[in-house]
Amino acid sequence: MTGVLHRLQDFLYNGEKELILYSNNPLASCQPQQVESTTYRTVPNQQKNVSLHSEKQPCRMNKIFTVNNKPTIIAGPCSIESEQQLRTVAESLSRDNRIAMIRCGVWKPRTRPGGFEGLGEPALKWIASVKKDFSSLRFCCEVANPEHVELCLTYGIDAVWIGARTSVNPFLVGELAQALKGTSLAVMVKNPITPDVALWIGAIERLQQTGINDLAAVHRGFSTYNNFKYRNNPLWEIPIELKRCMPNLPLLCDPSHIGGRRDLVAPLSQMALDLHFDGLLIECHPDPDNALTDSAQQITPTELTDLLDNLKVRQYNAIGPSDLQRMREQLDVIDSELLRLLSQRMQLSKDIGRIKHAHNMPLFQPRRWQQVLEHQIETGKQLGLDEQFIKELSEKIHGESLRMQE
Ligand code: PEP
Ligand code: MN
Repeated sequence: MTGVLHRLQDFLYNGEKELILYSNNPLASCQPQQVESTTYRTVPNQQKNVSLHSEKQPCRMNKIFTVNNKPTIIAGPCSIESEQQLRTVAESLSRDNRIAMIRCGVWKPRTRPGGFEGLGEPALKWIASVKKDFSSLRFCCEVANPEHVELCLTYGIDAVWIGARTSVNPFLVGELAQALKGTSLAVMVKNPITPDVALWIGAIERLQQTGINDLAAVHRGFSTYNNFKYRNNPLWEIPIELKRCMPNLPLLCDPSHIGGRRDLVAPLSQMALDLHFDGLLIECHPDPDNALTDSAQQITPTELTDLLDNLKVRQYNAIGPSDLQRMREQLDVIDSELLRLLSQRMQLSKDIGRIKHAHNMPLFQPRRWQQVLEHQIETGKQLGLDEQFIKELSEKIHGESLRMQE
């Protein structure tokens, strides 16, 4: 699997190669293609005003989302809680020139009623006042409706993000696109809470279609029935797929909302950079333990500095050291072998399905599945493979087998 990811990385980041995209339908074009050689072709997208695919030059976003070699770092509190809190964090972050922008929630979407829902307009007034004192700082906050956009414009906010509970809804995204049309605001689109890359792409397209170009995507993980150790399941293959479909769109990672825990922010940030994300959106609060929202996942400005000091920004050269080349070739062979075995397995599954149908047996056999899963996990462990990884892989394979047997 790691091999597959690395392979995808090659597809995404090797400047010498272009993506193979045979269709102008963004979803159809996202199907993995059979690759015969290392020369890939792009079919231009014909939909007006929508540029999803690889152009020769990365599109120049505005100053905030420049595509350069340095990751774009956005940091700040989950929510603005008081003018003093905002000033303290702004003052600390203004001293670190790696911070491109300060994030700060003004309207907070809460799962249950009764929690702190943000301070709204008064908080925007404080931002405007802090901006007067720290003219180099830029600010962004979440918007969920046209009225929020209006207020952000009134108080000189630089960028906004569309949250995970909003990007899931095409009607709301459409309304926001209309409100944002022709404004100076840069826009980040967080992934929808559901693991659906098409919905995420759709939200971005709705903004692009109204002519909004200062865009970035933010990966913040997904609500799934099995989040394992994370607050939101990262499902890295989804942002990787988004990047494959929209290679010129800056892609940021929000390790704070993925991890939900302070100690996970640094490793998730590193993972994102290793997967060649373009930047990070990190929650940072002067006093995380007493934060009114997302207390467990916020880090202090000092911890943020430490995290940034220790991040390794990898180089993605078209041609790496020869050992790397050789090992990648080996990975490619192993990946092909994995696919061949999978195909063989699915064929066998189909044959089993025919027998089940012939004997009027249910396709899904819970006891047998339980045994298979336990055996797989045990064997995987002996081979040094991560238990959760084996569980998810087995579930995927089993699900596909059942589909084939229908
Ligand atoms: C946030 O960034 O504070 C937030 C609420 O994000 P999300 O929409 O990712 O949950
Ligand atoms: Mn938050």
